[in-house]
Amino acid sequence: MDIILLGPPAAGKGTLAQWLIRDFDVIHASTGDMLRKAIKDGTELGKIAKPLMDAGKLVPDNIVNGIIQEWLRGIPAGRGIIFDGFPRTVAQAEALDEMLASVGRQIDCVVSIQVTEEIVVERIGGRLSCPRDGSVYHATNYPPKIAGKCDKCGADLIQRDDDKPEKIIERYKQYLEKTMPLAGYYDQKGLLFPVDGRGGSEEVYAMVSRKLRSS
Ligand code: AMP
Repeated sequence: MDIILLGPPAAGKGTLAQWLIRDFDVIHASTGDMLRKAIKDGTELGKIAKPLMDAGKLVPDNIVNGIIQEWLRGIPAGRGIIFDGFPRTVAQAEALDEMLASVGRQIDCVVSIQVTEEIVVERIGGRLSCPRDGSVYHATNYPPKIAGKCDKCGADLIQRDDDKPEKIIERYKQYLEKTMPLAGYYDQKGLLFPVDGRGGSEEVYAMVSRKLRSS
């Protein structure tokens, strides 16, 4: 089963993805994580992506499409995929349809997590990320067991550059302009599963896991 998680930054896509990976036979595809790794490794791709990501802007479609195309080559046919943060534009969605079709796959469900702008600002403002393994915490809603340290690997937690308050508004704006139209794109195909994300990750997970188990 191939699933897309759609929603603004801090809607809870990353947490939902982690829990789905824990409970279903699916592999995580996060273009954000792939791009952050490219930056950390100092690759050419990372050099192009960094200033755009730091500014809260989207990386060009051809670049992220290329990353996903390459990534798809190594995926075993029998396992499902959770796309988290990809596609983010209609052009990416069209490219993904083609890429999946060429390897005999297709999107089965698009989970659209809906939250308000106020929630986005509040959640991202308190977000703490592990630079080593990508785990995400929240200062008040989901604090690490030891303040400032990753529960899983013990690394010092950081606030990502693009999670700084001045960048949040820009990221949300990009979401409204470029990613929101995807809801209509997938609704027309009968794939959209909208969920109310205001209550938090546990509620969202309950709704999504029920839906996936019944499909
Ligand atoms: P994320 O971790 O998914 O919030 O992504 C962090 C940043 O990476 C975004 O704000 C974009 O700058 C960039 N990015 C990640 N995925 C994409 C994508 N599918 N298209 C364009 N830019 C992306």
